Amino acid sequence: MFEKSTWIRLPRNVVVGHGVLERAIDVIDDLHLQGRPLFVTSPTPRRLAADPFAAQFEARGIDPAMVTVETASFDAVETVIETAEAEEVAYLVGIGGGKAIDIAKMASDHLDMGFLSVPTAASHDGIVSNRGSVPEGDTRHSVAAEPPLAVVADTEILAEAPWELTTAGCADIISNYTAVMDWRLAHRLKNVEYSEYSAALSEMTAEILVDNATMIRPGLEESAWIVTKALMSSGVAMSIASSSRPASGAEHLFSHQLDRLAPDGALHGHQVGVGAIMTAYLHGGDRGIWTDIRDALASIDAPTTADELGIDDETVLEALTTCHEIRDRYTILGDGMDEQAAREVATRTGVI
Ligand SMILES: [Zn+2]
Repeated sequence: MFEKSTWIRLPRNVVVGHGVLERAIDVIDDLHLQGRPLFVTSPTPRRLAADPFAAQFEARGIDPAMVTVETASFDAVETVIETAEAEEVAYLVGIGGGKAIDIAKMASDHLDMGFLSVPTAASHDGIVSNRGSVPEGDTRHSVAAEPPLAVVADTEILAEAPWELTTAGCADIISNYTAVMDWRLAHRLKNVEYSEYSAALSEMTAEILVDNATMIRPGLEESAWIVTKALMSSGVAMSIASSSRPASGAEHLFSHQLDRLAPDGALHGHQVGVGAIMTAYLHGGDRGIWTDIRDALASIDAPTTADELGIDDETVLEALTTCHEIRDRYTILGDGMDEQAAREVATRTGVI
């Protein structure tokens, strides 16, 4: 008997391009959203994007509520939830880098309200996916929420973001290669649910980005365009799978563990990039694609070593040997790496 079913939730509007923020109110109309929004933003994105967007509402006699968050924390999520309830808003708009959007996403999940994503930096695929996480003590609190109702990504603004945020977004996409390898492995070994469509889309997204790597240069708006489209595509792959599997394998476990061990370490995308070099080596040994991944990262100015991450060698090794414990996600790391083996892979790949 046929008993399969699937439920794919996607953003209804994805608007990417030069100056699209100026017409962002059209997206609100298209979604038939009524009532007052709550903007969740941080200081610089507020000036760049939230205030101009708020003006479009004010021209219609709607005064958006606004919360400006300084750090990604569970307290910030609480503040947003309390403000949303006190101000009786109808939906949320996350405006900023990953931080403000993750907070808006988690609050909207708790409030059972829709939210819109207005990224001001193309720094990671959380800007479009349904996954969100913020630090809580020495761990991270993650949710699988609904994806945004819409994404409005203005490349004029994204191109002005600090360059390392863009290279971090690229590295996050490049790590799709190893995420998919881990997914296939987990499917073969542990019968983890697997989607051929999603895996193919995720890999193709990384491939297109790598093929266009020479066009990814500081100050070029085209770079923001390429990276943002890739992040969207990666987010869609996760939506199709109803899982972060297509974009998150052992390299993400490694990065999450680094976040715990070295909280002021490096950007998420940069950490997963370095993780992907090593896990690609574990998948394929010397003949594997780890050198392609390393070269692609280097070509877009993303870190390829512990030194470039600003994280010491021993912390990298500790993350590598302990990160399999942080969640029940089967990857190439299996039930954990031996310390000597970790040292070997990190040395062989030039990470330490
Ligand atoms: Zn990521």
